[in-house]
Amino acid sequence: MTIKENYSLKELNTFKIDVKSKYFIEIEDETELKEVAKEYNSKGEKILILGGGSNILFTNDFDGLVIHLNTKGIDIVSKNDKEIILDFQAGESWDDVVLYAVKNGYYGIENLSLIPGTIGAAPIQNIGAYGAELKDVFHSLDGFFINDLKEKSFSLDECEFGYRDSIFKRELKDKFIITSVKLKLSKEKNFKLNYRDLADLNKLRKNITLEKVRNHVVKVRESKLPNPKVLGNAGSFFKNPEITKQQLSDLIVQNPALPYFKSPDGKIKLPAGWLIEQCGWKGKREGDVASYHRQALIIINYGNATSQSILKFTQEIKDSVISKFGIELEQEVNFY
Ligand SMILES: Cc1cc2nc3c(=O)[nH]c(=O)nc-3n(C[C@H](O)[C@H](O)[C@H](O)COP(=O)(O)OP(=O)(O)OC[C@H]3O[C@@H](n4cnc5c(N)ncnc54)[C@H](O)[C@@H]3O)c2cc1C
Repeated sequence: MTIKENYSLKELNTFKIDVKSKYFIEIEDETELKEVAKEYNSKGEKILILGGGSNILFTNDFDGLVIHLNTKGIDIVSKNDKEIILDFQAGESWDDVVLYAVKNGYYGIENLSLIPGTIGAAPIQNIGAYGAELKDVFHSLDGFFINDLKEKSFSLDECEFGYRDSIFKRELKDKFIITSVKLKLSKEKNFKLNYRDLADLNKLRKNITLEKVRNHVVKVRESKLPNPKVLGNAGSFFKNPEITKQQLSDLIVQNPALPYFKSPDGKIKLPAGWLIEQCGWKGKREGDVASYHRQALIIINYGNATSQSILKFTQEIKDSVISKFGIELEQEVNFY
């Protein structure tokens, strides 16, 4: 077990924030994961599980142990003519999981191509894109509580998935380590192409394949989103706010062009990127922090941005959205 001290996390978070953790370990084995969690928890150290670091903003050095989870492996749990249940170790890259499914003819996660990070983190905020969400294919997950190492499996209902949300982002935040995730994927053609950006694929009709959907999603994402390997960012910084029917009617009077959509659970949502853009932030840069010129919802680190400068910039965005629309934006990114 090699514990490093005063370890730089700059290359381990996609925002590329230059902070250090008091202790750091790379873990590839579940037994070792439990041993180290037990030891450092009993010493009273805080523990942070780090996957791909693509949904995190470090606001300070981390005063505790960062465990970079790199456990790998895929097992078939069960299969029949219609579907297959697969169990993935938490450290598997999410996009490798999608690629594996696409190559093997398993339907259900192709719309979620190219989302950065690990499968272990995917349930934390119920990742979603292009009309699909993890919960649509989720079977269950396994893991253990940090305080007593007690193992538990969580069913779909127990995860309490919501829009970019789950029990692990709320009550169980930093308390439970997900060690593996089971997905139930379909072996029968079953595409979700209602989302505007995927409408072109509908023209292919019977010739649609998993590969075509994946390639299209990858192309759309590459044209709209900054590549974190080139420009530091953590994807959408804020969630799309949910409003009531009354709020919508009031806002439309003032802003006739207001776009809105109904989420699958029937709630009214506003695109946070549009609200931010209307306040004049799209493409705006202060020092090394900016709102991305193609999608205002994404905050960019041009190189030497500090977390303090990002926090100041995003607070200014929040303030201007409140004063123009009376809506409080909620962050999607996890702060540490
Ligand atoms: C360019 C870009 C595009 C993105 N697009 C999308 C998108 O379309 N849809 C979307 O939903 N998200 C998107 N994201 C956000 C991000 O990729 C996802 O939230 C992803 O699931 C985070 O995975 P990660 O491994 O990087 O998690 P990390 O950032 O490492 O961790 C995030 C949180 O999960 C916890 N965690 C991680 N692994 C575990 C584990 N095994 N057990 C317990 N807790 C754990 C961490 O402690 C932390 O609180 C995007 C990000 C970027 C940079």
